[in-house]
Amino acid sequence: MAESAHADTTTDRDPESALETARHQLERAAAHVDVDEGVVERLKHPTKVLSGSIPLERDDGTVEVFTGYRAQHDDVRGPYKGGLRYHPDVSEDECVGLAMWMTWKCAVMDLPFGGAKGGIVADPKELSEDERERLTRRFAEEIRDFVGPTRDIPAPDMGTDAQTMAWFMDAYSMQEGETVPGVVTGKPPLIGGSYGRAEAPGRSVAIVAREAANYYDLALDDATVAVQGFGSVGANAARLLDEWNATVVAASDVNGGVYDPDGLDTQEISAHEEQPEAVTRVDAASAITNAELLELDVDILVPAAVGNVLTEANADAVAADIVVEGANGPTTTAADRIFAERDVAVIPDIIANAGGVTVSYFEWLQDINRRQWTVERVREELESEMLSAWADVRREFEARDVTWRDAAYIVALARVAQAKSTRGLWP
Ligand code: NAD
Repeated sequence: MAESAHADTTTDRDPESALETARHQLERAAAHVDVDEGVVERLKHPTKVLSGSIPLERDDGTVEVFTGYRAQHDDVRGPYKGGLRYHPDVSEDECVGLAMWMTWKCAVMDLPFGGAKGGIVADPKELSEDERERLTRRFAEEIRDFVGPTRDIPAPDMGTDAQTMAWFMDAYSMQEGETVPGVVTGKPPLIGGSYGRAEAPGRSVAIVAREAANYYDLALDDATVAVQGFGSVGANAARLLDEWNATVVAASDVNGGVYDPDGLDTQEISAHEEQPEAVTRVDAASAITNAELLELDVDILVPAAVGNVLTEANADAVAADIVVEGANGPTTTAADRIFAERDVAVIPDIIANAGGVTVSYFEWLQDINRRQWTVERVREELESEMLSAWADVRREFEARDVTWRDAAYIVALARVAQAKSTRGLWP
């Protein structure tokens, strides 16, 4: 596992914002790619950021004003694409940083999209369903000129779901005077959503884990796996790896985890959406904490819960040979440096969980063509897109003395930069 030591000296005592991390990663990749400095400078900034107020009439008749954002980073390769999150911590900087990540995620997958992200500073748990619907419809109206199937295509993210996308699509369509399913992805299949969209990020994590194991001559039959977070991403990845004969020895949710060295029955454990926070109720050999799970002596570790769980404090104790990032940003920059020094292979989120945006692309194609694909076709096409992206990243990894993360960013940046140079700077 030839991986170079990082030159940066960032520590976890000095945590970066999403935007700082995104710029930092851009600079690292730019050092390896023959790219015009002016292009790199342009990519450090978003093309546009819309911020505005969204008034909402609460159920009790009072009016509350929320703040919403939509950051559009770059659209040189196609319309902007990215999630809408409803969370109290949403900020302009966070949206810009996450929009930059979406640019790289779409580019590494070679999807004809650029990066965007948006959201509303709100706690959806404190809103009734009717309030969430009114808030979503008003937000859709406020950003209507910004979005559209050939401009910017939102998707669900933290605090939003398929129903949120259905309301958004309806509000947009009512104003346009026609049904426009392609304005958002992640909709219910009944109104133009794609089969296989919900399972897709977990499926891509499993595919990438399988390919990484194969790269390091580790047969899945002999591989042990620990999965942190048994939600949409973690449960789908764990079940697929289990189906492919890997031994999933540990799984967890926010309350803690279970461990069985002989392997857990991943179908027996309820995923978050089937029954929230039920992992620790499973009758397994032993209970473990989330901290212990991350340090288990397994072949493959899949952090698939939240960001910043692999840090300077535990990176030395992580015993897995391969880390496949299911969550967005589970590894801090300082931990990344330690893993590189220790030759732990970290397969980055921008490829590992990119099955989500890839099937969103399939959904967009289905909407434009007014055709629905079977789940079998979605899985087949996802497999082929993932293998192609993996081959591109592997080629850079083998050609240069870099980490897997750098290799993925190099592939992405080279594509975006080439498109920018070819199109030129207008006027
Ligand atoms: P989810 O809500 O379905 O499940 C999250 C799981 O993580 C639950 O089991 C929860 O109990 C557990 N969890 C929460 N906080 C935890 C903590 N502090 N420690 C341990 N476990 C904890 O979420 P999801 O959709 O599976 O998303 C998980 C991660 O994957 C997030 O980082 C998300 O941004 C990322 N992601 C999701 C998608 C998607 O489409 N669902 C796509 C790409 C990336």
